[in-house]
Amino acid sequence: MKKKMKTSKTTFAASILAIAFAGAGTLIAEEKGHEGHDHAEHSEEAHQEAMAGPNGGKVIQVVEPHLEFFVTKDRKVQITALDKDGKAVPIAEQSVKVTGGDRSNPTRMTFAKEGEVLVSDIAFPEGNDFPVVVQIKVTPDAKTVIEKFNLNLNDCPTCKHQEYACTCDH
Ligand SMILES: [Zn+2]
Ligand SMILES: [Zn+2]
Repeated sequence: MKKKMKTSKTTFAASILAIAFAGAGTLIAEEKGHEGHDHAEHSEEAHQEAMAGPNGGKVIQVVEPHLEFFVTKDRKVQITALDKDGKAVPIAEQSVKVTGGDRSNPTRMTFAKEGEVLVSDIAFPEGNDFPVVVQIKVTPDAKTVIEKFNLNLNDCPTCKHQEYACTCDH
């Protein structure tokens, strides 16, 4: 009798282990499935069409609402929030930081609200083609979203925009 109980306990423990392993297996499978899903989302992003904003700047589409990144004549950056139709709406709680230019001596911009848009505190130095990193927080508690692109300020030969906001397929 005693022996039988011991055996059944062992069997019970073994089946708990088996369930635990099965559970782990399922978790791993789900993790893989989730990663696959994420990759699909990334490629969708990559296929998003280039859009120009109401001022002729680049539309940053990784955040909602979308933001227009526009370089003003005095080489400052102006950030405008856009509604679903791409029309300008007042900036809400968004905060933005931009780093760009020479990698060894980058320009670090912070932004303040000017009317309904955000404007950088400083301007980009000389140069018409350099990488920029835009860090965006949609709300103060939101995770920082990063958009990186090459800021090419040369005029596009085939559309009215500068190359960084070019909507041509070239
Ligand atoms: Zn172009
Ligand atoms: Zn173009």
